[in-house]
Amino acid sequence: MGFYSDDIIKEVQDRADILEIVSEYTSLKKRGDSYIGLCPFHSEKTPSFNVDVEKKLFYCFGCGAGGNVFTFVMNKENLSFPEAVRYLADKYKVPLPESMNSKLSQEFKEKREFYRVNRLAAEYFKLCLFHTYEGKKALAYIKKRGLTRDTVEKFFLGYAPPSWDGLIKFARKKGIDCATLEKVGLVIARKDKKGYYDRFRNRLMFPIEDVTKNIIGFGGRALDDSMPKYLNSPDTPLFSKGDNLYALSKIEKDPSLDVIIVEGYMDCVALHQHGFRQTVASLGTALTKKQAQLLKKYTAGVILSYDADVAGQAATERGIEILAQEGLRVKILSLPEGKDPDEVVKEQGPQYFQKLLDASLDFISFKLQRAKHGINVNTPDGKLRYIKKAVDILGQLESEPEMEVHIKNLAEELDISPQALKKEVYRKKLANNGLQYKNSQIRYNNKEFNKILQVTGFYKAERKLLKLIIDNDTFYRNIEEKIDERYFTNPKTKKIAMVLFDIIRQNPDGKIDVAQLFNYLDEEGCAELSSIMATEQAELVSQEHIDSLVAKVKEGYFKESILKVREQLKQAEILGNREEINYLLNMYQQLKAEMDELISHSTPGKEGA
Ligand SMILES: [Zn+2]
Repeated sequence: MGFYSDDIIKEVQDRADILEIVSEYTSLKKRGDSYIGLCPFHSEKTPSFNVDVEKKLFYCFGCGAGGNVFTFVMNKENLSFPEAVRYLADKYKVPLPESMNSKLSQEFKEKREFYRVNRLAAEYFKLCLFHTYEGKKALAYIKKRGLTRDTVEKFFLGYAPPSWDGLIKFARKKGIDCATLEKVGLVIARKDKKGYYDRFRNRLMFPIEDVTKNIIGFGGRALDDSMPKYLNSPDTPLFSKGDNLYALSKIEKDPSLDVIIVEGYMDCVALHQHGFRQTVASLGTALTKKQAQLLKKYTAGVILSYDADVAGQAATERGIEILAQEGLRVKILSLPEGKDPDEVVKEQGPQYFQKLLDASLDFISFKLQRAKHGINVNTPDGKLRYIKKAVDILGQLESEPEMEVHIKNLAEELDISPQALKKEVYRKKLANNGLQYKNSQIRYNNKEFNKILQVTGFYKAERKLLKLIIDNDTFYRNIEEKIDERYFTNPKTKKIAMVLFDIIRQNPDGKIDVAQLFNYLDEEGCAELSSIMATEQAELVSQEHIDSLVAKVKEGYFKESILKVREQLKQAEILGNREEINYLLNMYQQLKAEMDELISHSTPGKEGA
């Protein structure tokens, strides 16, 4: 965490009133031991957002957001952890150590000032759109593109006039100097260093907001033949193209709603207007990991809708990989050649666009279609070439049922036997895995393995055990010799276990302050911990009960490890690596023995649930 000592953090946390803080964003009603209200992180009609005042936690049963008071303001105000500490220290009059205080406070103040400057600039652009002579041209363009006044308001669209110093003059009247404007990328210093000029001229302006609706930058579309057609803010302390998505602040957080990703601002705005309100635009770059991670907070599935030209298709393919790697379900919408979404929805109507959405391809089908491009599969040679490419693609699939479906379709399409095709795919898959395994080096970090572990019984036991330890200060001493974080197999509970056991070891007699645990966890860890605190029932019943719970967690660990070693053995055998095989066999026997030992000591059939 850097910046502040644990003591200071704890002091701020103790003094900050989570109920008061949360109430600034949503109204809460007391129900039982906790307070409930409409979630400020996703839109809902019935309250599923909970605040536990005593434990100083919040949790949403709807979207899974959760954490402590720092997590809350970090997410709502878009602050870093030290900024959140600072923010709350200010509010609750906790003095902070001077040196750090001034540095941080300055950064913090500067950022706030930059947001203010951007908002003023957006207001200026809007003013120019509606109240200047030049603005009429931009309004005419907006009309031609079919945008309504509501849409213009919703997206805060504006117009940067052709003047070289319009914004500079406007800002000066508001007491903002050129140095500040330059820092947020709105003006450019002249080459001779004698002054500045406006960056955006004669452009339709699209303010870009972050998730908390602060304006962090601008995109400007040329209204004449100026190049580039789209001009973005440069990288500034607030804005970095690859870190944001246009209109992300306008969509709903709902895993069941697919998010449409388009390339251009205009496409995005037009789709919103025609009722496709879960649309965002990438900011003229290839999609990044950061963007995929942002999207994952909003949805479980995305539909890519890029141009049908070659560049667009290549961008689509790269985008798919990045999105899929973050675990998003990816589909691809095929647009008629030479058309962008804006044109399609305007010319053919929303129903037609909905049809295209419904017909969007899953990403394997899309890749297969791309692979087939330019190959005549009616010739034996073409067929073979396509099969080879298709096998490469299908060999990357992890899910067996998914693979089966594609193999069946492909076999039908090419009129070949599905068994033969399947054999080829498996051969390819094993070769891939073997290679991956060799490259990975880390024996315990096999990707294949992590996929297998969705065993709910063990996961449940891990959650209950964590809850028991957190709720009962002395409880840990009953089990400390029997279990530690190593045995937690679910990545989320493991994160918590690592922090929890570490804190206990450092301070064996101390009380566990759950609100403090959050300060050491990332966002996923915070969400998991608050979900455990809010939903798990775990009471100290008997030693027998506890033992069976511990045994269950360990059983999960052994089962997983054995499975993993077995999988690795299979691969080592295929590759004929003697040394590796011996090593793995050894490990396998060891694990088996430990597992048998565990089973012989625990009461069969009890899960501790
Ligand atoms: Zn929620």
